Amino acid sequence: MKIKIGIGYDIHRFEENRKLYLGGVEIPFYKGLIGHSDGDVLIHAIIDAILGALGEKDIGQLFPDTDPEYKGISSLKLLEKVIKIVKDKKAKILNIDSVIITEEPKLSPYINSMKRTLSHVLELEESSMGIKAKTNEGLGEIGEGKAIATYAIALIKIE
Ligand code: MG
Repeated sequence: MKIKIGIGYDIHRFEENRKLYLGGVEIPFYKGLIGHSDGDVLIHAIIDAILGALGEKDIGQLFPDTDPEYKGISSLKLLEKVIKIVKDKKAKILNIDSVIITEEPKLSPYINSMKRTLSHVLELEESSMGIKAKTNEGLGEIGEGKAIATYAIALIKIE
C-alpha cells in the first residue's frame, strides 16, 4: 500500500451580480466568482490536491475552459468525475484539509454545510474534512475584496 499527498491552490476574481458557490454551497452575497464553471474556488483546489496525489493531470488540463461541456457546470460534478478517477485507480482519500482566504463574506455560518456537502461526495467522514476560513488582514488584492484564494491538501492511499 502506498500513501500519497497532494496540494492544490486556486484563486478566482469577484464580479457583482453572480452567484457565489464555495464547497458546493450557495452563499448569499452581492458578488460571485468569475469562472468557466460555477467558479467554486474551494472545490477546484481540492480537485487539484487529489489529482496531484494521484500523479494525474491538473484540473485545467482535465476540464479545459475552452470546452463548452464545462461551461457553467457545477464544480460538484467535476469533483464527482475526479472521485471516479480515484476509484478507477483503486485509491481511497484518507483526509482533506483546506483554507479559504477572503475578506468577505463571513463564512463561519456555512463551514458545516460545506463539510457535509463535500464529505458526502468525497465519501469521507466529516471529521476527515477540514475547512478553515481566514481573511487576508486587509492586505493586497484579496484584502481589497477582489478575489478569493484557496489551498487544499489531500492524503490518499493506493492499494
Ligand atoms: Mg478555478
